[in-house]
Amino acid sequence: MLDTLHRIVHAVNKAPNLQEALGTLVNAVREAIDCDVCSIYLVDDDARSNVLMATVGLEDSAVGKVRLPFGRGLVGLVAERAEPVNLADAPAHPRYVRIAHTGETRYRGFLGVPIIQNRRVLVVRQREEREFQDEEVTFLFTLAAQLAGAITHARASGELDALTREHQPLHRFLVGQPGHAGVAVGTAVVSFQLSDLEAVPDRPVDDPEAECARFERAVAQVGTDLRHLQERMADQLPEEDRALFDALLLMLRSETLVLQTEETIHRGLWAPAALRDTIAAHAQIFDEMDDPYLRERASDVRDLGRRILMHLQDDDPRLVEYPPDTILVGEEISAMQLAEVPPGQLAGVVSASGSGSSHAAILARAMGIPAVMGVSEMPVSRMQGRALIVDGYRGRVYIEPTPSVRTEYERLIAEEQALGAEVEAMRGPPSETTDGHIVPLHLNTGLVNQMNGEEQAEADGVGLYRTEFPFMVRDRFPGEGEQLRNYRRVLEAFAPRPVVLRTLDIGGDKALPYFPVVEQNPFLGWRGVRISLQHPEIFLTQIRAMLLADIGLGNLQIMLPMISGVGEVDELQQLIQRAHDELLEEGHVVAMPRIGVMIEVPSAVYQAGEIARRVDFLSVGTNDLTQYLLAVDRNNPRVADLYDELHPAVLRALRDITAAAAEFNRPVSVCGELAGNPLATILLIGLGVNSLSMSAGSLLRVKWVVRSISRIRARQIAQVALRMEDVGQIRRFMEGTLDEMGLGGLIRPGK
Ligand code: PEP
Ligand code: MG
Repeated sequence: MLDTLHRIVHAVNKAPNLQEALGTLVNAVREAIDCDVCSIYLVDDDARSNVLMATVGLEDSAVGKVRLPFGRGLVGLVAERAEPVNLADAPAHPRYVRIAHTGETRYRGFLGVPIIQNRRVLVVRQREEREFQDEEVTFLFTLAAQLAGAITHARASGELDALTREHQPLHRFLVGQPGHAGVAVGTAVVSFQLSDLEAVPDRPVDDPEAECARFERAVAQVGTDLRHLQERMADQLPEEDRALFDALLLMLRSETLVLQTEETIHRGLWAPAALRDTIAAHAQIFDEMDDPYLRERASDVRDLGRRILMHLQDDDPRLVEYPPDTILVGEEISAMQLAEVPPGQLAGVVSASGSGSSHAAILARAMGIPAVMGVSEMPVSRMQGRALIVDGYRGRVYIEPTPSVRTEYERLIAEEQALGAEVEAMRGPPSETTDGHIVPLHLNTGLVNQMNGEEQAEADGVGLYRTEFPFMVRDRFPGEGEQLRNYRRVLEAFAPRPVVLRTLDIGGDKALPYFPVVEQNPFLGWRGVRISLQHPEIFLTQIRAMLLADIGLGNLQIMLPMISGVGEVDELQQLIQRAHDELLEEGHVVAMPRIGVMIEVPSAVYQAGEIARRVDFLSVGTNDLTQYLLAVDRNNPRVADLYDELHPAVLRALRDITAAAAEFNRPVSVCGELAGNPLATILLIGLGVNSLSMSAGSLLRVKWVVRSISRIRARQIAQVALRMEDVGQIRRFMEGTLDEMGLGGLIRPGK
């Protein structure tokens, strides 16, 4: 049964549009259950009825016409109860309704299961009395639970196709998570990993003959590679395993692979996308085989496809063309891909995965670019060149928007620009509450080159320099000298203002290509200082570089990430002391910097006092703290609704951290994304946070809020919020507070 289930979900996933997906589904289910009829109904909330959408067994002409009002019929019962209904003799049930024009005789056996997320009901029926077996019920139930994503995807793909054929705009918008506030209108450029065949976007080709020649060259090169590999493996692999290479070579030379791809190229598609389609079709044949060994061959076909793609890419002289209003679109967007867009041409970012606190969103924020994350419905490969509107406030993406939507957003953009001018007025004056308390605003950065002078001048220092970014864009660990030059640049740029350099925080979602950490549970695994403690050589090199970079400047502060207990703080402080003493012995006049700890793990919240006593300052990493307090992966769009940094638990943790630090007279900063959210500024001041560190794009907006409120009032507001039990209530309360202050424009599109 598991195989059948897998095959059906796979086939529905591959369907190019909703109607084909549903057609495939009803046919496959009827065969699997061996029944007379299989149908699928849509729960139409607007028309308050259940509509037949696809069927096998009833008349085709009934599709779209049969409508059962809510409250009548057995399909409605399934939808209302949101659970399966299994009846051996359906006509005996009081809710049974017979509909004449479906060609239906009296079907007696009935089993209906809800597909809850899609508002649909899947029904199988039998002419004779039939009580469906438990395993048939659980089969349909499990299938329905897995189908939601596939159906949504098919719908979005089909809508895009219709849009291309009929030049009809899409009225719907796709929904994701707000990544960075702001609105952008622009053109999609799909960015994809070189080796990710499924993510290759469609692109037109001007000269199909030349494109075919390019494709043939790539195929020939893969043939040569495979033969080399086969020879190399000659004395390491037994004969039967080496036969795999023969099979791959045969597949490579098979007429269908080459001819099918070239046919598609001649229809006007570039070679990588033509190859993508051929490989998908071939792999699907294997995917659908019952024999598990043969099914596994699908991955060989895909591997072959990736190899050809790599060679195609080597041979591609065309650089990606970025229009002046580029909206970068991808399954997953990396820091490198963002950095590749020429300055000034990046208008927006849309990612199918990730959430507002993923590192891609953090980078977008640093660059002040509107971003929407976790748009899982988006058919990425079909997006190239499409007109898009990105609403980073509400997490919406409009594809080929209607003229009225476009006009509305152009108006909002004009208002945004007007608001931008008002925000600009905040440049210069200090970040001071109306009753005279200074709240220093610091920058979060990791790419000092990408900051302009104005932004640097505005900040009171750097509150979080993520040292892993320079580590990520290299192909090996940077040495002491290389790191020193990097740290010196940022310390010099801000001196005498403080610069907090955070020690390497890799692991979790931040991988180094040359130091792979593969774990089942990376966020609970080897990351941050846990790696530093097991690799003191990496840590000591970094500390030496930091201390040397600070000579003659004196504005360095060092911060330790992912601390979960005082033992780690003690050990790391000893290592820092050791690096300091060794440098002194070597004759360098280094000073001991202030040392701080990030509070981002729940255990550290409960030990904030003990930690504060040991160090000079605390800084709360609300991105991770929220993830760990709420047990919600910060990158997983499925649970992104649950990830909310204004959650009462986060606010109460902040209250406890500032109280514990105050006992030892230590300052507390917040350097997670919450610090740059104008909705939270008043709360953070009111909860006793001393300084805030954020992306450059948020600084003036937050300063506006600071300069509009007194600390006394902020404390009162925080006390009210602390008594609230639900995050929605806190959000509404803070939105209302900003609206009353005339600052609503900071949290939604327009003014
Ligand atoms: C945090 O966790 O809040 C933080 C600032 O660190 P990062 O986002 O780099 O994990
Ligand atoms: Mg963190």
